[in-house]
Amino acid sequence: MVQQNCALCERSDFAVVYQENFDVQLLDEKIFSARRLPDRIHYRIVRCNRCGLIYSNPILEVEKINAWYRKSFVSYDAQVENLVRTYGHYLQQVARYHAEKERLLEIGCGNGFFLDEAQRQGYAEVYGVEPGEKSVEKAPPELRPHILVDVIRPGLFPNEYFDVICCFQTLDHLPDPNAVLASCRGLLKKNGVALFFNHNVGAWSAKLLGRASPIIDIEHTYLYDKRTMRALFEKHGFTVREVNSAFNIHNLSYWVRLFPLPKKMKLFLLRLLQRPGLDVRLKMYAGNLVLFAQK
Ligand SMILES: [Zn+2]
Repeated sequence: MVQQNCALCERSDFAVVYQENFDVQLLDEKIFSARRLPDRIHYRIVRCNRCGLIYSNPILEVEKINAWYRKSFVSYDAQVENLVRTYGHYLQQVARYHAEKERLLEIGCGNGFFLDEAQRQGYAEVYGVEPGEKSVEKAPPELRPHILVDVIRPGLFPNEYFDVICCFQTLDHLPDPNAVLASCRGLLKKNGVALFFNHNVGAWSAKLLGRASPIIDIEHTYLYDKRTMRALFEKHGFTVREVNSAFNIHNLSYWVRLFPLPKKMKLFLLRLLQRPGLDVRLKMYAGNLVLFAQK
């Protein structure tokens, strides 16, 4: 295990929020690959005494985390349509700040479903970086050559290459956000836009659920709120245009699964929603944030 400093202050001055709930010695790949089930395992969660940033500390060695993500696979099949609606909505907002659509990069692009949407919105060249080999294998054949099986790092693309860099539900998984933002700044054209979408630890849902919130999870090395997101991007010289609570669109049954309800009630509701016409799409501000920052 390695000690983490606060990514904003680069110092180690923190208070413990939650103790870790697993035995480090027992952690192995099996636990990691099985952990798609909601096991709610997390590292020790701390809060920086200087700036309030919430982060996991200590965490596993970066090489181990990266190896785990190389083997990971997320199937979005059931959710793709709704995720495209949500993320696609926010991509359209980028036009407020930057109109050029020559090249777009997505960090953590999975099977490339969003790159497909970016093309539909008129981006001429779309690229993705994704460490999960199996996810990339599922990408459409025409997109596959544009997805690098890798983590974002210097040298993958020329400097000042992209109009837009997107990152959906990924930043809080990354152990070195400073390196990621430095890379993004180098890769963006002047006036290019970073569009980041991730959990909001300051949201009503996170406050209400506390330790039971699904965001308190071993996958999350950092947890941001609107203030710490803004501070992170400003630290790297970006002009932050907006940091807002973000909505998600999901079917009602997805929200029911997510919500902490008694099991019997949950099963009853899920059965009920199988009736035709009841499992409607619902837009909710459930605990995510979206940031637009300009170089
Ligand atoms: Zn700090």
